[in-house]
Amino acid sequence: MLNKTNLPAHPAGGSPNRQTKPPLHTRSSARPAYAKTEAKPLPAKDQSAPIKNRDRSRMNHAQIKIKPTVIQTKPIIHSKDTLRIIPLGGQEEVGRNMTLFEYDGDIVILDMGMMFPEEDMPGIDYIIPNISYLKGKEKQVRGVILSHGHLDHIGAAPLLLKQLGYPVVVGRDMTIAMVKKKMEDFDKGSAENLKTIRVGSVTDKITLGKFRIEFFEVEHSIMDAVGVIIRTPHGTVIHPGDWTMEKDPTGKSLTDYTGLSALPSPRILMLESLGAIVTNPSRTTEEEMYANLEKLIDDAPGKIIIGTFSSQIRRIGHILEYAEQIGKKVALDGYSMKMNVEIAKELGYIKMHKTTLIPVSDISKYPKNKIVIICTGAQGEGNAVLSRIVNGEHRHIQIQKDDTIIFSSSIIPGNERTIQRLKDNLYRKCDNVIHSDILDVHTSGHCSALDIQNIMRQVQPDFFLPVYANHYMLKEAEKLAIRIGFRRDNIFVLDNGNILEIQNNKAKLLPNKVDTSYVMVDGLGVGDIGQVVLRDRQLLAQDGMFVITVIIDSKTKKIIGKPQVTSRGFIFVKENFDLVNATKKKVEEIVEKKTSPDTSINWDYVKNNIRETVGSFLYSKTQRRPMVLPVVIEV
Ligand SMILES: [Zn+2]
Repeated sequence: MLNKTNLPAHPAGGSPNRQTKPPLHTRSSARPAYAKTEAKPLPAKDQSAPIKNRDRSRMNHAQIKIKPTVIQTKPIIHSKDTLRIIPLGGQEEVGRNMTLFEYDGDIVILDMGMMFPEEDMPGIDYIIPNISYLKGKEKQVRGVILSHGHLDHIGAAPLLLKQLGYPVVVGRDMTIAMVKKKMEDFDKGSAENLKTIRVGSVTDKITLGKFRIEFFEVEHSIMDAVGVIIRTPHGTVIHPGDWTMEKDPTGKSLTDYTGLSALPSPRILMLESLGAIVTNPSRTTEEEMYANLEKLIDDAPGKIIIGTFSSQIRRIGHILEYAEQIGKKVALDGYSMKMNVEIAKELGYIKMHKTTLIPVSDISKYPKNKIVIICTGAQGEGNAVLSRIVNGEHRHIQIQKDDTIIFSSSIIPGNERTIQRLKDNLYRKCDNVIHSDILDVHTSGHCSALDIQNIMRQVQPDFFLPVYANHYMLKEAEKLAIRIGFRRDNIFVLDNGNILEIQNNKAKLLPNKVDTSYVMVDGLGVGDIGQVVLRDRQLLAQDGMFVITVIIDSKTKKIIGKPQVTSRGFIFVKENFDLVNATKKKVEEIVEKKTSPDTSINWDYVKNNIRETVGSFLYSKTQRRPMVLPVVIEV
């Protein structure tokens, strides 16, 4: 398994609907062989991760108000006869994956993902790509190709498709079904606007304006992930989306991409490179991982609770089918997990008898050793199912000593401490807690460093663009390519908004960038939260707020009564009388000094004085900087 401690989200899995890989092209390439250098392995990460479980209904009917916080640079003139590649997201983060391809007046989009907020974005639900570059070009968008149904690839589709006037969406069944569901969740009835081109088989070929689109099979943790080939006269883009190399039990790769090396030059390999830092991938194969899980399910003396990502649909499907085989019932808990399984069932990707799946409320009707619960929350998210179970707040699931709890997931970097706390609590309540440090019960849906070098050798691209990861991972992918003899000047580690032009076998990075500043979604608002609001939230979160209200007689300009103070998240007023009284005194002095009964008063000036003086006074006494809000009322 890939470095378990670093690896989040989607693992690979044996899909029930695996298709054999079509022979792409067979001609062996005349390109120079790669120097065989030993690759130094590196660690990994991914995303599709659990969505913060905020009240979903709030996200409905969002108003579309894109307000970029960065000013667009001067208009970017597009020389007609070039292929342009413009990533709008996914180059500096894991998430909000979206890339534009522009050729001769036509635009094709690959993926429309969302991103989960960073820790310093309190209250933000998610972030979507900024499409201000497409303003006025909506009609040029010939289609949106979606590589697979994970949220970092489709999560922004409901909003962005609407903004673009619903261009045609290209994808395989599971992906399209998930987009439809997302659209309905977001705005009921909106899925009726969806126009689709169904990719029935990876041998399908379609035309979107002047682009020719083809596909290839990839391995990933969700059904119907597909690799995309975008052909233009100036270059052939090869983009696997998210991918891993499936291995047989001896560790030999089952996936072969050599056929892609026969595509016309220049071949531009855009490669998801989360795995660039995974240098010691686990040797555990999918098969072994499933065998471990199955044995645990077989032997469990009590009920089994498996915490995993809802994005790991293949694995969830596998567990469901296995549980049915041995006569156990399965209850799912977690909105996205139920939704994903429902879609996969409808499409026939998970096959089971309808009595196998039971509602969580029914688990007490069966012997405990006949129950398997699959739930979300293995990252320790506060409101997710596993946390509620361990805190004794779940209506139907109580943990008993002889239960078996399995963490079949990796740790998303940043979640280490919450997961440790969750494990501590689980160990107090249950004797059988299994996680990847004990037994391999998770494999990643992403490649490793060696896989990246392998696919490079197989595809033999002319240009290499590592994508869909944090910047440092992209740089590590660059190093991996150089180590096997790839030329540095043919590698482009792009930032969001960079424009790469390809013409006559040459690639050129333009000096200007398109605007890719964050478009944040908070409840019903899309893009209405800017840096100012965010900074206020950060301030409030750090040191709280301190409100001072003074009522002033309009004639005498004297304070009526005493200034009133309200503290939230700063100090407990009742235990800090001295500080509060001293502050009130300061305020009285300011009002006295800055007003006079004879002249009309500049209240803004007075308020600013109160804010500054009180701010520095409170800091001198507490070393904290609460947000100071003066309220002056004249009566
Ligand atoms: Zn994915």
